[in-house]
Amino acid sequence: MNFALHGLSVSPGITIGIAHLVSSARLEVAHYDIGPEGIDAELARFDAAVAAVRAELGDIESQIPHDAPAEFGAFVNLHRLILDDTALCETPRELIRARGRNAEWAIVQQMERLVEQFDRIEDPYLRERKADVQQVVERVLKALAGAEAAPIPPEAEERNLIIVAHDLSPADMVLFKRHHFGGFVTDVGGVTSHTAILARSLNIPALVGLHSARQTVRENDTLIVDGMKGVLIVNPDPLVLAEYQLRQGELDLERRKLRRLKTTPATTLEGTSIELFANIELPQDMADVLDAGAEGVGLFRTEFLFLNRKDLPGEDEQYEAYRDVAAAMGGRPVVLRTLDIGADKALEGEGATQPNPAMGLRAIRFCLAEPQMFLTQLRAILRASHHGNVRMLLPMLAHAHEIDQALALVKQAKEQLKERGQPYRDDVPVGGMIEIPAAALSLGLFMRKLDYLSIGTNDLIQYTLAIDRTDDAVAHLYDPMHPAVLQLIAGTIRSATRAGVPVAVCGEMAGDPQLTRLLLGFGLRNFSMQSSHLLEVKERILRTSLAEAVPLARRILRSIRPERTKDLLHRLNA
Ligand code: PEP
Ligand code: MG
Repeated sequence: MNFALHGLSVSPGITIGIAHLVSSARLEVAHYDIGPEGIDAELARFDAAVAAVRAELGDIESQIPHDAPAEFGAFVNLHRLILDDTALCETPRELIRARGRNAEWAIVQQMERLVEQFDRIEDPYLRERKADVQQVVERVLKALAGAEAAPIPPEAEERNLIIVAHDLSPADMVLFKRHHFGGFVTDVGGVTSHTAILARSLNIPALVGLHSARQTVRENDTLIVDGMKGVLIVNPDPLVLAEYQLRQGELDLERRKLRRLKTTPATTLEGTSIELFANIELPQDMADVLDAGAEGVGLFRTEFLFLNRKDLPGEDEQYEAYRDVAAAMGGRPVVLRTLDIGADKALEGEGATQPNPAMGLRAIRFCLAEPQMFLTQLRAILRASHHGNVRMLLPMLAHAHEIDQALALVKQAKEQLKERGQPYRDDVPVGGMIEIPAAALSLGLFMRKLDYLSIGTNDLIQYTLAIDRTDDAVAHLYDPMHPAVLQLIAGTIRSATRAGVPVAVCGEMAGDPQLTRLLLGFGLRNFSMQSSHLLEVKERILRTSLAEAVPLARRILRSIRPERTKDLLHRLNA
């Protein structure tokens, strides 16, 4: 059947490929065809894994101390019952036989079905039992991996796959970095959620908020992801397919042309230099940063080192990651943002423990509540400062005392390193993110204590307009052009510039070429964005006259009528 679904584009471009349905958080599991001749062996592998887990649970049960609380035994017993239920030990076998696919794929498919059924249960206690199903499946997956390492499909095959999921977490997206998928689409999610930001960093077309893709798309359907219009076309007819293939070719050509700008300095028509920095999530992103010709790393979201793992990265591991990035930039600036954990980037096992995580113990609040963990990171950052031009950036500031406490901990970390005799730079600049309206409205207080500012427009919009950036139900209200948002951004740039405090924008607005001239007109001279957007923004800067942009930006700032604002922006970009 031929049909289209409409959603929100989070990463532009067009991709044409084959649907591959996946379960959230299980992307590390390889999915591959085993062919009719491999079915018996695969069934045997699955049975062996289930038997191994059964034995493992038996062992655990026999080791429970006599004085342990009764729940211990009940818990292990529950897992044994789940494992022995035909839903888990029989249905995957049927799937292997019917679809000719590997055991990991089969059990994850089945788990997803069960989890969906649990999600529909009203009783909250019973609903949460889905976690037990997931834990049992994890054990089976581990046993399968031990029995025989699952092959990763070849890159060319992966490029042809379009991931279709109900939801993907930022942690899932990090796992994407190990793969080469052609695109992805999800039923839920907002355009500046971290999942979407990561999609942009992967430079693959992506859509969120499709609502029913996971239910209506079938494995192996032909898909077109139109990241320009926010449309998913399922099983297109030949004419539509041919038109999209043509458009895809044109876009590739445009991208290749942009590559010529890599070494061109970013200057306006008047010759004003603009700094273009890149945002990264992991040290592996540095190849893209250098490839895009970025002049620095304006935001290293260090919390991604903390995701997809049960333990915390230690000081040495963090130090090595930060040092590698600093060294790769060879003396050019590298902004290491301290841990911004919480909200959609929860540590393993900590998800959904707060009533309103975006407004809860997130970022600097979390770090100040966990000073030993924070000190570990501060020492790692300071040690890395010995190898390059490192700067520190504190996220989610709202209060002066948060800066005071953070600076006191920086001092303590330095003393600890001094005692150990480990080198660091004493003058590492410490900046703060302006991403809570309270900070933007009391800027003087922040400028007195900090060396520089970086405006996080993603959160600034979220908190100004009270829009959860991960929630597609309110995504239509997420508006960078809202007069309140523009006032806060322009006011911050103006005040900082007047006071001689360096200011950058590192939220997604910095990477949107439609907003480049507006931000230049507000006086911004430092942009930090996903590497994949850098050349497009540079091209816009090269064609911008500040003399023309400034007055139009001022008029936009005064406009309170959305249609007028739209019209003025259109003129600014003409
Ligand atoms: C922001 O809020 O704009 C920002 C850059 O930080 P993050 O997207 O990681 O919250
Ligand atoms: Mg933020």
